[in-house]
Amino acid sequence: MNTKLSSHVTPLRFSVIRSMLEKASAYHDVISLSIGEPDFDTPAFVCEAAMKDAEHGYTHYAASSGDADLRAALLDAERAKSGLPWQEEHLLITSGAMHGLLAVMRTLLDEGDEVLTPAPCFSDYQGHCALAGGRLVPVATSFENGFIPTLDDMEAALTPKTRALLINSPCNPSGVVFDAATLDMLADFAVRHDLVVISDEVYDSIVFQGKAESIATRPGMFERTVVLNSFSKAFAMTGWRVGYALGPSWIMKEMIKVLSYSVASTGTPNQRAALAALKGPRAPFDAFRDAYRRRTHLAAERLNAMPGVRCLEPAGTFYLFPHIEAAEQDSLAFALDLLDKEQVIVVPGFPFGPEKTVKGCVRLACTVDENRLSEAMDRIERYLKTR
Ligand code: PLP
Repeated sequence: MNTKLSSHVTPLRFSVIRSMLEKASAYHDVISLSIGEPDFDTPAFVCEAAMKDAEHGYTHYAASSGDADLRAALLDAERAKSGLPWQEEHLLITSGAMHGLLAVMRTLLDEGDEVLTPAPCFSDYQGHCALAGGRLVPVATSFENGFIPTLDDMEAALTPKTRALLINSPCNPSGVVFDAATLDMLADFAVRHDLVVISDEVYDSIVFQGKAESIATRPGMFERTVVLNSFSKAFAMTGWRVGYALGPSWIMKEMIKVLSYSVASTGTPNQRAALAALKGPRAPFDAFRDAYRRRTHLAAERLNAMPGVRCLEPAGTFYLFPHIEAAEQDSLAFALDLLDKEQVIVVPGFPFGPEKTVKGCVRLACTVDENRLSEAMDRIERYLKTR
């Protein structure tokens, strides 16, 4: 039998985060700071609205571009947020931002095309590019430079195959929010080299310092930027799998083919849930954000007081990406030993970027309540002191 499988799929690694969780199942009283998923449940009013709509017949395929009511509400919300003139032809509903990433790569890339991204970056980007036949080219940043990319490093990473620039602000895993000058620099770079920009903005409403602006607002960007967003993080709706993409019509009119051939349409009751979340009261979601602010502040303060640890306080998201001397030699071995000795799960830094950037770093997701987070900090501190 010929057991050859696709060369786009077989080299991909299995999720390091999920494999840490599997290892942890052998232990008791584990505190998981591993998975990037809000610990809050979707508010009841959202679930009730989705069930009610399902009872009233919202159980059929939606249009591939998305449910008409959700599309209208999103266009209003996005126009109000950025001031950009988004129209019907610019918007597609996706099955989470993951699906948006896959669809935009499938639409943009041909075999061997390259996508630049400042690193540390979301560990799944490499797979999204590879599945489309492309190649992710991480551009190293440094802890010392606040994980902000420099123009020189971006220029040095360009090749004739570079097709796109992928950015993620606020950033998973660093919690960094790009300031206005960085966005200006990246926009100018993209225009000069005629690159499409993919702007992953799934954490744009979980911001504690400054403002998460979209690069699409910069001159020359509206016609070359695809913004990806999602209900997963901001609305605690990871399991509903609803996201969206906003971009120029020359890309979106082709990208809809990928949606149509992959999922036909995102689940209709799920889209109705997203509509209810968008139109409902903001208070529960603001409360989630405030909880992430308190937690990340608490964890950063505790970590910075531990021996051999330095940690930037995140400006957004619910992640921290501390540098830990004890993890310098091997961040996976560190994470496994911490799990074994103290039953805390952190994610080793290596899936998030090149060695130069992530050496000694681990990612913590503040997705447990403050009591459990304090307990996790006590355990990490004890581990580092007794190691
Ligand atoms: N982009 C980033 C930076 C993420 O951290 C995640 C999830 O962890 C996603 C995209 C995908 O989110 P979803 O597919 O749930 O919308």
